Amino acid sequence: MDDRIFKTAMSKFATGVTVITTEVNGEVHGMTANAFMSISLDPKLIVVSVANKAKMKQLIDESGTFGVSLLSTNQEEMSNYFAGQIKENFDISFKTFDGMSVIDGALANITCDVHNTHLEGDHTLYIGKVRDILMQEEGMPLTYFSGRYYNLS
Ligand code: FAD
Repeated sequence: MDDRIFKTAMSKFATGVTVITTEVNGEVHGMTANAFMSISLDPKLIVVSVANKAKMKQLIDESGTFGVSLLSTNQEEMSNYFAGQIKENFDISFKTFDGMSVIDGALANITCDVHNTHLEGDHTLYIGKVRDILMQEEGMPLTYFSGRYYNLS
């Protein structure tokens, strides 16, 4: 099957947008991801899918922890920045929560320890055991559909 058909079909599944963060040797790294899902209530587990070629993969493997920030509707630029699509200087607002750097102004921040990993094709699934959750903002989510951002409100 042509890659384009697969990508286009998958893009018809509307999602929210997250920024995954991790820290190695005091340096924070962020990456935009929409392959995020809640998977279990007891224990509380979530999953993110990270491309094997992404810097983030090596860094999570090293740190064993990561944060997931669920972006709000006014954080489109933040999403583009952490997807490597904006090269100019950008005013990044990290905040510290549960000893981790997460995105300030997100709808919620989730901190996790890596519980399990599955190498699947060109991506790695990181199952995160949730350590803590911070609900920051009331607002609406940034949404992504068919390769574009949408504002639910
Ligand atoms: P880089 O590409 O090096 O980092 C990303 C950007 O963030 C760079 O510009 C870097 O300079 C900047 N940056 C990171 N940390 C800091 C910091 N501390 N201070 C200043 N700048 C910093 N990829 C996936 O693997 N899984 C997904 O689920 C996924 N979903 C996506 C959803 C959307 C809506 C978009 C737009 C992209 C998605 N991507 C996803 C692609 C992914 O975001 C990019 O390929 C990204 O560039 C990979 O990041 P990286 O870890 O390789 O690091």
